[in-house]
Amino acid sequence: MTSSFSNLSLAEPLARAVADMGYETMTPIQAQAIPVVLAGQDVMGAAQTGTGKTAAFSLPLLQRMLKHENSSTSPARHPVRALVLLPTRELADQVAQQVKMYAKYTNLRSTVVFGGIDMKPQTLELKKGVEVLVATPGRLLDHIEAKNAVLNQVEYVVLDEADRMLDIGFLPDLQRILSYLPKQRTTLLFSATFSPEIKRLASSYLQNPVTIEVARPNETASTVEQHFYSVSDDDKRRALKQILRQRGLKQAFVFVNSKLGCARLARSLEREGLNTTALHGDKSQDERLKALAAFKAGEVDLLVATDVAARGLDIKDVPAVFNFDIPFNAEDYVHRIGRTGRAGASGLAVSFASGGNDVRLVADIEKLIKKKIELEPVEFDEDRPRGRINDGRRHWRDEGEAGDARDVLDQPRERSGEARFGRGGRPHRAPAAPRDPFFEKPYEAPEREAAPSWEATPKTASSRAISSNIKSKRKVAALFKAAAPATS
Ligand code: AMP
Repeated sequence: MTSSFSNLSLAEPLARAVADMGYETMTPIQAQAIPVVLAGQDVMGAAQTGTGKTAAFSLPLLQRMLKHENSSTSPARHPVRALVLLPTRELADQVAQQVKMYAKYTNLRSTVVFGGIDMKPQTLELKKGVEVLVATPGRLLDHIEAKNAVLNQVEYVVLDEADRMLDIGFLPDLQRILSYLPKQRTTLLFSATFSPEIKRLASSYLQNPVTIEVARPNETASTVEQHFYSVSDDDKRRALKQILRQRGLKQAFVFVNSKLGCARLARSLEREGLNTTALHGDKSQDERLKALAAFKAGEVDLLVATDVAARGLDIKDVPAVFNFDIPFNAEDYVHRIGRTGRAGASGLAVSFASGGNDVRLVADIEKLIKKKIELEPVEFDEDRPRGRINDGRRHWRDEGEAGDARDVLDQPRERSGEARFGRGGRPHRAPAAPRDPFFEKPYEAPEREAAPSWEATPKTASSRAISSNIKSKRKVAALFKAAAPATS
């Protein structure tokens, strides 16, 4: 499905920028979308972040805009010609950075505007004139109203992560923004799913779009075994470790809802001897790539991530996905657990609900996946003091014993990759990055000799069955009623 960028006859400055990025083969979305956009057709693309879709729309847009390229300093010579709309600041920033890199050898200018920060520096950039404007809808409207952004010469508009924009409630803003654009234009819409709302949006604003699909449909795979456990916040880590051990899992993905929570959880799991890495919006792309490579090579057992960070990464087919927090957005549940149990392989999806707000979130998931969710209690193996996780590899330590614990962590681990682990379980040296780390192959269970970090405790006879420790099931609503008042 992939093919070489050299077949595209991209203009030299763009081809050079692509070569600088180290891309060799096109991803499936690029191979399909670039020729269509170059031909000036509208596109309705089902593709998530992480599939290479930014280059799929940016490169052909830039190529077609090269005819307007000029080195004049006059703002009037640099009107907005391409508008890229995204739902979140992180995504807008990420896309804008990529556009800048692809356009770096051209005279085409680009900038990004999003909310939550001072408008003034953005205004100055806009006033200088930019050909490509990347924006979140709310802030863009502010700039339109302040007459900082004029959109009557826009030739291309990209609605990226359109499903997410609708979820957030941006439809009225989008409609207003689109009303400022010329009717004659190319419109590209990308969405992880083609829900009826997305189809309606497309039919109103796209003309004879070419449909390109590289993402999965919006449903949970039947090969995924899904469990929802009622666990207090304090007991979630313990439950996680117990399930990892009992199930004999080799690796897992752990989702949390916030960047802060992500960093905190990864740190405490690491402290407890689990070989963990964190992926969240505050990590650089380079750090994220390294973490991904380490996970794929089997050098890291647990990847703790936020949705935004995970959306930018291609990690599929992991043996298990844990929702340490129930996602705020039910569709994220589908995306999260879609990373396990693919292509006929069986997968495990475990979600921890601690009551309170989780009642509504679980009900939303129930509605979306059209399956009744039963909430199960977890009974712990043994009643050891909380936080005292003796997995056989390390000893419980208090402040005074920190040195001992470090010694244990510093032991080199024989793994399939070359990296040795240092303090806190981080690799000293990242393994050589695969040539095309995102797209060459999906996650495959790495070959590994060492047991994962939670495996040192001897397995019990009931190792395959969480259910041996689980009391009879009760309906979600009833359990939540009982649990609700106790939680934050
Ligand atoms: P995106 O889905 O556009 O957010 O892209 C995700 C990541 O894939 C970005 O870091 C891109 O730099 C990278 N990427 C995009 N296209 C390719 C390609 N053809 N080969 C390798 N990496 C790519």
